[in-house]
Amino acid sequence: MSNPKRVAIIGAGMAGLTLARVLSSHASVRIFEKSKAVGGRMATRRIGGVSFDHGAQYFTLRDPRFRSLLDGAIADGAADRWNADIVSLPATPADGPATASAPRQSEARYVGAPSMKALPAWMAKDCDIAFNVEIASITGTPRNWILKTETGDIGPFDWVIATAPAPQSARLLPSTFGHRDAVQKTAMNACFTLMVTLRAGADTPFAAARLDDPVLSWISRNDRKPGRGEPPCLVVNASPHWSDAHIEAPLDGVKAEMIDALRRYVPLDAGEAAGAVIKRWRYANVARSAGRPFLLDPERHLACCGDWCIAGRVEAAFQSASQLADALVPMLRKPAE
Ligand SMILES: Cc1cc2nc3c(=O)[nH]c(=O)nc-3n(C[C@H](O)[C@H](O)[C@H](O)COP(=O)(O)OP(=O)(O)OC[C@H]3O[C@@H](n4cnc5c(N)ncnc54)[C@H](O)[C@@H]3O)c2cc1C
Repeated sequence: MSNPKRVAIIGAGMAGLTLARVLSSHASVRIFEKSKAVGGRMATRRIGGVSFDHGAQYFTLRDPRFRSLLDGAIADGAADRWNADIVSLPATPADGPATASAPRQSEARYVGAPSMKALPAWMAKDCDIAFNVEIASITGTPRNWILKTETGDIGPFDWVIATAPAPQSARLLPSTFGHRDAVQKTAMNACFTLMVTLRAGADTPFAAARLDDPVLSWISRNDRKPGRGEPPCLVVNASPHWSDAHIEAPLDGVKAEMIDALRRYVPLDAGEAAGAVIKRWRYANVARSAGRPFLLDPERHLACCGDWCIAGRVEAAFQSASQLADALVPMLRKPAE
């Protein structure tokens, strides 16, 4: 590449990594990530030696390009099929535990292996990523964009692409960005996630369950996903509606209410309940998407992509970034005017 264009990507989740892997053959690409690791909402946390996928629970493979990426990851042991039956549990009757309905036949589900974050880590192998760099704003002019951080300016860049969740991207992008309205009309739901280590030998009558419950929407046995294993442990999500309504509530109270609700489905002893850890995702899922696969402003050399352009799914984040890359590659190849 003679005189490659300089491209800054904000965010090292599925969208940012997908973009970087394609664009790096056509430009000089650097990702800026505010946290200390890749993956974004494809997240795994270790608590007392136990691993919890506390963000995305699984993903689907409908897009041929995503399938081709996953074939490579599966061959390298960074992803695997999750063959669990997911049952549906009705709202619990007051006088006893809920009974599961038979699992529905549904499409194949996949996970990172041995943890969800293994897939983004595998994708990041050849990417140039600056960690612990939170971008506060984008200033300057097209072909001379500067990223502002607490510790100084970074740049200039010919292009800047934001892949942060919509409300965070809206705060970063300059007011001149041609698609600000589309970013601002997008809405995202919160999610509280509870991580519970069960005592050795504890059993649950399901590997994963969707709940019709006023507080909770999902329980999964994280240890039963491929490559995980003992001790038994649960990842429990609060429903989008309940999470939004409690987003500013003190975490201790939220945790106590989620544990009370969980006990309607899974018996917990005092030690298991006391050891539970809660995570607040302010922007977890997509309530209203941008309705377009990506937002590109070719005049100003700015763009954004991510799950929120299409739908709140890992595969949608991949599709959004892949389709933006298709549109950007010819522009990056053009010599500077
Ligand atoms: C609890 C939960 C459960 C879910 N369950 C599922 C599921 O079962 N199946 C499914 O398909 N999807 C699920 N999802 C959604 C899925 O995780 C997302 O659709 C997908 O991971 C989004 O990828 P992304 O790259 O678009 O965004 P993200 O993963 O959010 O990546 C954005 C990145 O930008 C970084 N960033 C943000 N602001 C800045 C800044 N100012 N400077 C630098 N970096 C910044 C963030 O740290 C992050 O790493 C779930 C999500 C959550 C939270």
